Amino acid sequence: MWMNTCAQLRTSADTLQQSPPHPALCFPWHSRVLMEPSLFSASRGPTAPCESAFESELSEVAISQGEVNLALRNLRAWMKDEHVPKSLATQLDSAFIRKEPFGLVLIIAPWNYPLNLTLVPLVGALAAGNCVVLKPSEISKSIEKILAEELPRYLDQSCFAVVLGGPQETGQLLEHRFDYIFFTGSPRVGKIVMTAAAKHLTPVTLELGGKNPCYVDDNCDPQIVANRVAWFRYFNAGQTCVAPDYLLCSPEMQERLLPALQSTITRFYGDDPQSSPNLGRIINQKHFQRLRALLGCGRVAIGGQSDEHDRYIAPTVLVDVQEAEPVMQEEIFGPILPIMNVRGVDEAIEFINRREKPLALFAFSNSSQVVKRILAQTSSGGFCGNDGFMHITLASLPFGGVGASGIGRYHGKFSFDTFSHHRACLLRSPGMEKLNAIRYPPHSPRHLRK
Ligand code: NAD
Repeated sequence: MWMNTCAQLRTSADTLQQSPPHPALCFPWHSRVLMEPSLFSASRGPTAPCESAFESELSEVAISQGEVNLALRNLRAWMKDEHVPKSLATQLDSAFIRKEPFGLVLIIAPWNYPLNLTLVPLVGALAAGNCVVLKPSEISKSIEKILAEELPRYLDQSCFAVVLGGPQETGQLLEHRFDYIFFTGSPRVGKIVMTAAAKHLTPVTLELGGKNPCYVDDNCDPQIVANRVAWFRYFNAGQTCVAPDYLLCSPEMQERLLPALQSTITRFYGDDPQSSPNLGRIINQKHFQRLRALLGCGRVAIGGQSDEHDRYIAPTVLVDVQEAEPVMQEEIFGPILPIMNVRGVDEAIEFINRREKPLALFAFSNSSQVVKRILAQTSSGGFCGNDGFMHITLASLPFGGVGASGIGRYHGKFSFDTFSHHRACLLRSPGMEKLNAIRYPPHSPRHLRK
C-alpha cells in the first residue's frame, strides 16, 4: 500500500522541484503548525511510558517546537541564493549556490526521544522543500500512533506519509529509491541502511550511537561534577545517545566523587528512587534484561537494584571495571555509570583515542588548558567542557557524529543545508565573445605558461 504512497510522493516531489521560487514556499505547513499547537499538546506528558513528564517536555516538546520556530523565522534567508566570489574571467557573470530540494526523503527514527528525533529532521526536510516518508520506531508505540494520527491534520498530505512497521517493513521501504535517507539509530542498523542506499547511490545522514567518554580532572569540585554528570547520565533513565557513558578519572578523584554522586542521586530521586516521578523506566523487557546483566560488571558502588515488573534500574555507579567487560564494550543506554581509572590526562587521551570516535566527549577541569588539550588531541561528533550534553541545546551548532558515531549533521540551518542540494550556478552573458575567444583552439605557444 505504501509503495503507491511512495510513488505519489515521488510525483509531488518532482512537481515541487519545478515550482519557483523555492518549493518550501509551496507548503502551507509552517503557519499551521504554529497556529495549531495541539500537535504538541497531544504529545505532551511522557511521550514514552519510560519518560518523566518534565524530561519529555524539555527534550521532546520544547526542542521540536524550537526547531519549527527557528525554521519559520529564518526560512526565507536560508533559501536565498548564496552569491560567491568570482575569478577574473567571470567578473561580469553571476555566480551563486542555489539550495534545491533533493526530492523524496526517507526519515527513519529510533525509539528514544521519539518525537524530537522524528520531528526535528522532518522540519529540516520539509523546510528544504522535500517530500518525506517518515518511519517512526515501532517500539515507542504511543508516539508512533500520535504521529500517524495527528500529523495528517497539520501537514499537506501530498508531501508526506507516515509508514508504520519494524525491521521487516523498514527493509522493504529501503528497497525503494529515495533521493536522501536520514537515519537515527544503532550502528548495526546504520550499516544496513547505508548498504541499501548504496544500491541507488542515495546520499545518507547516519546519526548513530556509541560510548561517550567523560574525563574528570583531579582539580575539579567533585560535587559540581557529580551534579552535572548525574543529571545527564540519569536523564531519561540513561537512554540518551549523547549521555556520558563512562567516567575516566584517577583513583583519588573517584574516592571524592563517590560520596558526591551518592548525595546528588539522593537529592535528585530521594531515598527510594523507584518511587521518584523524576526517574524514567527502561523501554522494554529486552533492554531491561540487557542492562541487568551489565550490573554484574565490576563492583556496584552506588545503586545496583532492579525490579523486572517495573522495568526499574536504580541510578548506579560501577567501579573496579575492566576494559574487556561488556559494560565497557557496548553502548550502555541505561542508568549505569562505570568509572575507569586513569593516571592523568595523558592516559585519558590515550584511552579515548584507542576506541571508536564517540558522538560526544566531555572534559571536566578547572584548568582551561586541560579542557583545550583534550579538545585538540581527540575527535568526536560534539564536545562539551565542564558539563554534559549542553552543546546539543544550541541550534547554532551542528549535531552529528564522526567515524563510527555517524555521518552528517543537522539542527537549525544545518538541517536545511543537509536536506538541500547545493547547486553550483554560473550565469554568463552571451556577449563579449571576443574576450572569450582566447580559450578556443588553435592555441598559440605564447598562451602557455613558461
Ligand atoms: P535501531 O537501530 O534498532 O532502530 C532504529 C530504526 O531502524 C527503527 O525505526 C527500526 O524500526 C529500524 N530498524 C531496526 N532494525 C532494522 C533492520 N534490521 N532493518 C531495517 N530497519 C531496522 O535503534 P533503536 O534501538 O531504536 O535506538 C537506539 C540506538 O539509536 C542507540 O544506538 C542510540 O545511540 C542511537 N541513537 C542515536 C542518536 C543520534 O542522534 N546520534 C539519537 C538517538 C538514538
